[in-house]
Amino acid sequence: MINPQLKVKISDPKTLKLKIFPNRYQIPEEIELYDIKVLANSIFLSESVIKRPSKFDSSFKGKQFFLSKIDKIEIPLIQEYDEIDILLEQLFLLIFNRRIEVEIVRNPQRRLINNLNNVNLTNDFTCLFSGGIDSFSGILSSNEKYGKILGSYTHHLNQRTLKKRVQKLILSLRSRGINVCENSGLKHPNDISLTRGLLYTIDGFMTKRRNIIIAECGQTMYQPKYSPLDIIALTTNKNVLKTTIKLIRKITGKKINIILPNENLTKAEIVSNCVDKANLLQTHSCWRTGFASEFKRHHDGTCLACVLRRSAFEMAGLEENYENDIYSDHLRSSMMNNILSHLNLSYNILKDFDKLQEYSKESIKQNGKLDLFQRAAMDIFCSLYLANQKIKIKNRQIINWLNMSKDILSNDEIENRLCQIKERKHKPNFDKKIS
Ligand SMILES: [Zn+2]
Repeated sequence: MINPQLKVKISDPKTLKLKIFPNRYQIPEEIELYDIKVLANSIFLSESVIKRPSKFDSSFKGKQFFLSKIDKIEIPLIQEYDEIDILLEQLFLLIFNRRIEVEIVRNPQRRLINNLNNVNLTNDFTCLFSGGIDSFSGILSSNEKYGKILGSYTHHLNQRTLKKRVQKLILSLRSRGINVCENSGLKHPNDISLTRGLLYTIDGFMTKRRNIIIAECGQTMYQPKYSPLDIIALTTNKNVLKTTIKLIRKITGKKINIILPNENLTKAEIVSNCVDKANLLQTHSCWRTGFASEFKRHHDGTCLACVLRRSAFEMAGLEENYENDIYSDHLRSSMMNNILSHLNLSYNILKDFDKLQEYSKESIKQNGKLDLFQRAAMDIFCSLYLANQKIKIKNRQIINWLNMSKDILSNDEIENRLCQIKERKHKPNFDKKIS
């Protein structure tokens, strides 16, 4: 079968043609599954073109993406469906804040597909798996809740070191009777991917189960902006998930449910709820996946994901080594940016939420998550408090924040919060659904 091509028409200089499936991809037999997979990969591929910086644009700096001037994106599908182009244009507008014309063109390969039967879904549950804390803890709690859980892991061609680590975790899950199917994904961009949530959800749907569990932590789902130019990951943005459900419905005629059990949990709560702490230490959180192959120090320690991991593990009494230990090492100021902005935001959430900058309040307010973010803010200070008892923190900036936290958190409040974590007061909630 010929690998279909995504065409992106750019006014200057030409049309880009991109192969939609990775090499050696196991092409689905059913037309509906084939088409929805073409769509998922096309959206993921489009992102790399949309975010491509242009030589002629001086506004490209740092994290701010410059969006290429795209005239049209052509996606080849075998069958005809209503209004897919409109839904995709809305999705691109939502994610990239740009109007981009989408045209669905006919993929003439129908005769090469064998199976013309309708796809049948079972009422079972598939949990998306990435090898991080949330999905590892989530797949175990989902299996406890429902039994017969299947995991779905999408590995990107350029993340080989991460894949090896995730495969070890998959083996540990198998010993508990949980199977994880592995999907080959296209190359992951070097920065944050804004469309991968949709890709992973559709890969999960390919397991032909009606219920898809996404165990991402509420703290990352609704992550507030630390500065006005911050790009938020949108992996589990509710509007993106709703559009994903609509696309699946339009193309396959199937109605699915997405369950978000950890939507109201902090990272520390997810760690404390995990029933396999030994293997939790083998999960990977760092934005720099290059560290994933290291046996002992597989985290750089300074990115926001590492900061949240360090703090959550400290609260659960789990110890591990980081390439850079933000609590005990003396680090260059550029390496301290993430922890310091996280401490600053956390302090202000506890002191006076209303006085926060609008860009920081927005996501928390819109989603009604103040209580969640107050607990998350307490967590980072509680972890410093614990670390300081153990290692006597020497980093002066961190010590300053620890001292300042005494204005907003009493020792009793800290002890209370530590007790909540220890006793697992907050648990996954499987009633949180989007349909
Ligand atoms: Zn990191």
